[in-house]
Amino acid sequence: MPQQPLAQVPADVRWNWQDFGACRDSDQALFFHPQNERGSARVKRDRAAKRVCANCMVRLECADYAVRAREPYGVWGGLSEEDREQIYARLDVRTYPRRQGEGARAAAREIADAVSAQALGIA
Ligand code: SF4
Repeated sequence: MPQQPLAQVPADVRWNWQDFGACRDSDQALFFHPQNERGSARVKRDRAAKRVCANCMVRLECADYAVRAREPYGVWGGLSEEDREQIYARLDVRTYPRRQGEGARAAAREIADAVSAQALGIA
């Protein structure tokens, strides 16, 4: 995944997990919505990206990074922008997870749900 310029990249970030991402050879347009994409087109694209993430061996590392960095755009670790917004809304900004592993701990339920049958549209 490309690093997003607006993300608040944590000081302890490591990128080596990206070498093992299932999206490595995918079209990155699947993971980032084009301008003005709305409705069913956006739902379909997000689900297709989540399906790739569901089979990714570094999904937890990816989701952990995205939550900690507050990645503003894209599907990371199966989490869409809306999924992450729900996580951010729930977290206390005074104790916001910044260290490695804290994002995965703080949002374990959302990270698991992100690639559920319902999220993938196969429920
Ligand atoms: S979890 Fe998804 S976005 Fe992250 S590296 Fe894997 S396939 Fe790519």
